Amino acid sequence: MTVVSRPTTAPLESELYDVIVIGSGIGGLVTATQLAAKGAHVLVLERYLIPGGSAGYFEREGYRFDVGASMIFGFGDRGTTNLLTRALQAVHVTLETIPDPVQIHYHLPKNLELKVHRDYEKFLQELIHHFPHEQAGIRRFYDECWKVFNCLNAMELLSLEELGYLTRVFFQRPAACLGLVKYLPQNVGDIARRFIKDPTLLKFIDMECYCWSVVPADRTPMINAGMVFSDRHYGGINYPKGGVGQIAQKLVEGLEKAGSRIQYKARVTHIIRDGGRAIGVKLASGQEYRAQRIVSNATRWDTFEKLMPKSEMPRAEQKWQTRYQKSPSFFSLHLGVKAEVLPPETECHHILLEDWAKLEAALGTLFVSIPTLLDPDLAPPGHHIIHAFTPDWIEDWQDLSPTHYNDKKETVAQQLIDRLEKIFPGLSAGLDYQEAGTPRTHRRFLGRDDGTYGPIPSRKLWGLLGMPFNRTSVPGLYCVGDSTFPGQGLNAVAFSGFACAHRVAVDLGL
Ligand SMILES: Cc1cc2nc3c(=O)[nH]c(=O)nc-3n(C[C@H](O)[C@H](O)[C@H](O)COP(=O)(O)OP(=O)(O)OC[C@H]3O[C@@H](n4cnc5c(N)ncnc54)[C@H](O)[C@@H]3O)c2cc1C
Repeated sequence: MTVVSRPTTAPLESELYDVIVIGSGIGGLVTATQLAAKGAHVLVLERYLIPGGSAGYFEREGYRFDVGASMIFGFGDRGTTNLLTRALQAVHVTLETIPDPVQIHYHLPKNLELKVHRDYEKFLQELIHHFPHEQAGIRRFYDECWKVFNCLNAMELLSLEELGYLTRVFFQRPAACLGLVKYLPQNVGDIARRFIKDPTLLKFIDMECYCWSVVPADRTPMINAGMVFSDRHYGGINYPKGGVGQIAQKLVEGLEKAGSRIQYKARVTHIIRDGGRAIGVKLASGQEYRAQRIVSNATRWDTFEKLMPKSEMPRAEQKWQTRYQKSPSFFSLHLGVKAEVLPPETECHHILLEDWAKLEAALGTLFVSIPTLLDPDLAPPGHHIIHAFTPDWIEDWQDLSPTHYNDKKETVAQQLIDRLEKIFPGLSAGLDYQEAGTPRTHRRFLGRDDGTYGPIPSRKLWGLLGMPFNRTSVPGLYCVGDSTFPGQGLNAVAFSGFACAHRVAVDLGL
């Protein structure tokens, strides 16, 4: 591998860190805090002003908006899959959370209205009410998901590329390990079709997958579905008091308490290598830092095409890019509305789709979060936040004049408001604040190539088998976050963080 020559203009920081983490998304922060808790001296470098990445926030006129995630898994108080709870505990910080009684209220074609209740039986009964002829199949499908979850929830979730751990966990939990090996190469679609025949119900299962994996059931790994479809009834969906941004803020507090540090406005432009080995990073300011190990929380596309010369991309990464592609980004609408706009009994999370053929289309499926139903302090008294977002491609927003770009933003925002009017009549009249973000906004503020939500299989793959773990082909360089096993979502990237920290700690002899 070609050595990137070290520029002579900027002095090298004399202090040598054990680990540098590029980016303070939840994946990066869980890695950093886990390592700091083990005694490592960690430096987190974040290009933005605050931590959190896609789990960050912004404030406007008395509203505190989540930039992305707001349906949060991983805050349960039992088992092993409650990784956000565990990540905070590891650095002795706590965060109050508010339980959400309903994960999603679906508004689907032909007036199919369904709620996924926290109570498993209540959810099954509601689904069976709509598809009575599929009673047995419904139960068997979702019970199969529990089998996956029970395997995961029986073992400590650490690095699957560390032999000592694998041996230990196999002897402690042989049945759970064999269960996971069985499900690892499988996708949801094949399993769903084994139990369910009704085409509309199969479309509903597609939507159940799409709403977090952004691909239908045939391309959604069964391992991830086992987690999502079961944990929502086990640990439940819980919203952090003060907004999703609190998770990252608390992790940073814990990181600093453990003696490590984070630097904001620190955009890494290069990973410095010596003899092919990653030994440090260079910032846009010219500042350089060195460490024994470098962890990138940027996406794989950003890491291997921007932080290192694209022409030197390792073969393994080139191969990975043939199997996985960038998912679309989102068009996001952040609204402040008068409280009376929301009918009584409104749930926090909604999904709207008027036509099954548009499930995967740009501006098709519409996601809605109203976090102020759980934490009213995020908006001025008498008001709520509505965050509505829908998949959209950056290509549709490139090469527009500023006027054309703003006009298009207005038009798409109005289309979303019109669709929302169907579930929240009077919304337009009750608007108090409105701000829209396009895929370009996501790219700019989240530092993600094309503003992508993350990798999706470019064709049907063997479940999760193709998702890389944390080590890379570049010695000394690791990846963490949603471009690593097991993929997108806060609890998933927390899993990736636990695994990455474990692998790095073993490599450092901690
Ligand atoms: C609109 C939207 C809604 C979502 N809803 C949910 C949900 O309800 N529930 C859920 O669980 N998940 C949800 N997700 C997904 C979830 O937010 C992500 O999967 C997760 O936050 C990704 O975390 P990460 O650690 O991989 O990276 P990111 O959050 O992308 O963080 C990476 C960090 O690295 C920084 N960075 C990048 N490059 C550099 C560089 N060169 N130098 C320094 N810093 C750098 C970035 O600024 C960023 O802070 C949603 C995502 C979006 C966009």
